[in-house]
Amino acid sequence: MTEIHLPTRAPHNRAMAATLQIWHNRDRGLIQRTLDGLKAMDHPAACRSGAPINGYAHAHQVMAAHAKHRGCPRYQAAFERTQQERP
Ligand SMILES: [Zn+2]
Repeated sequence: MTEIHLPTRAPHNRAMAATLQIWHNRDRGLIQRTLDGLKAMDHPAACRSGAPINGYAHAHQVMAAHAKHRGCPRYQAAFERTQQERP
């Protein structure tokens, strides 16, 4: 079997690193296909969350977490909260 050098830094979670390496060695395309599938998902559950946004600072935290999601409803809700507080 070909030796794989992933990851290049010392992993924080050695069990997770070992699991990922086993998955990668069993099926070279698995991690990439999983990543592609996650990116293709419309909006994950967190983006559809209706949990309350508790103030201006929380709204900015939510916006930062969802900033890269195109058309994200959670981002939009947080943005609207900031506009309510400081228009
Ligand atoms: Zn989102």
